[in-house]
Amino acid sequence: IIHVNNGYRIQFNNALGPYKGGVRFHPSVTPDILKFLAFEQIFKNAITGLHIGGAKGGADFDPKGKSDKEIMKFCQAFMSSFYNSIGADIDILGGDIGVGAREVGYLFGEYKQLTNSYHSIITSKPLSLGGSLGRISATGYGLIYFTQTLLEDIGETLKGKICTISGSGNVAIHAIEKLYDLGAIPVTCSDSKGAIHDSNGIDLTLLKNLKLERRASLEYYVAERKSATYVKKEQYEGGSNHVWNIPCFAAFPCATQNELGEDCAKRLINNDVKVVSEGANMPTTKNAIELFKEHNILFGPAKAANAGGVAVSVLEMSQNSSLQYFTEEEVDEKLQNIMSNIYTDIKKTCDEYCLEMDLVSGANILGFKRVANAMIAQGV
Ligand code: NDP
Repeated sequence: IIHVNNGYRIQFNNALGPYKGGVRFHPSVTPDILKFLAFEQIFKNAITGLHIGGAKGGADFDPKGKSDKEIMKFCQAFMSSFYNSIGADIDILGGDIGVGAREVGYLFGEYKQLTNSYHSIITSKPLSLGGSLGRISATGYGLIYFTQTLLEDIGETLKGKICTISGSGNVAIHAIEKLYDLGAIPVTCSDSKGAIHDSNGIDLTLLKNLKLERRASLEYYVAERKSATYVKKEQYEGGSNHVWNIPCFAAFPCATQNELGEDCAKRLINNDVKVVSEGANMPTTKNAIELFKEHNILFGPAKAANAGGVAVSVLEMSQNSSLQYFTEEEVDEKLQNIMSNIYTDIKKTCDEYCLEMDLVSGANILGFKRVANAMIAQGV
């Protein structure tokens, strides 16, 4: 049987440096989705202050239920189709939904095979292939560091606060882990089939075992954890993810785009949420963001709040080219500095343009100016 999928790479802007952005394997992938992700990636990468351009790629391939060999074959086919268009100084890939260490390893292996080179053309590599310590956790940890800096600025903290999270993949799991480190209480998570509310706090060991080792659905969580309830996606009230019904101080959408709409925003506002910070890319709809703004809810936009992943990817690239490797502590310290600088730079832009705490506009202006200045400096 011949199985055909469509794969794409959108190389959007390389004014600041080589194209850089993740690869997504999910049945919902279309060129339009990759274009908005690549467009956002340009400004996210600019906001980090690092010298990388913006790109995104992916395929409508569904890794779920496939054997390791099928995944490997698909990764090889994907890479063989466009290895000529990428390179360590041209375009560097990374992970995203459905593309973790296993897929990254297979993509890298195929590039090496085809080009007879060991170039750093993809990040989020397994450690055995030159990956960086702290890269897997970087997006989730960075999200919480960013939110912590934002809260410190208004004299608040996450300590002892109830937090809700959607998703249960790489970003969600590491956000939950860092929330525990800071003394917060993360009580929800979700996947594509349903949502968990665990009033005692999410059991992280069980969650990791289910999602990272068994690659199983969250419905099995409740069998092993009596304090938790599970709501199937079909039973979500008005189609809105159940996790946004739970009263919380801070909400972290960490699954996918457009997952937090107007209805979810109203529920969060009615439950007195103080801060919403995006771990996923564009999870909050435009109308929901407007509502948060109207109600003075602090809002951390994805292009700032989840930039920790791409920032540590650049550290991975620099380690690969210098062959000098950082310890986990060094990476974590650099990540904390980068997230704190991102917040400071956006806040300065907000002050400069009299935007108060409108971090969405502040981030857009900051990212745009950096890219535009680099384009102008290169001549037209
Ligand atoms: P994973 O594939 O590890 O996890 C994705 C999670 O979201 C899973 O729990 C998945 O459920 C759930 N999910 C995916 N699609 C849907 C959907 N249509 N409806 C409901 N749930 C869904 O991906 P990541 O954690 O890496 O990425 C999550 C988000 O963060 C994405 O928006 C990504 O672009 C963004 N991001 C990721 C970065 C990274 O470093 N990984 C960097 C910056 C942003 P199930 O388990 O059932 O598949």
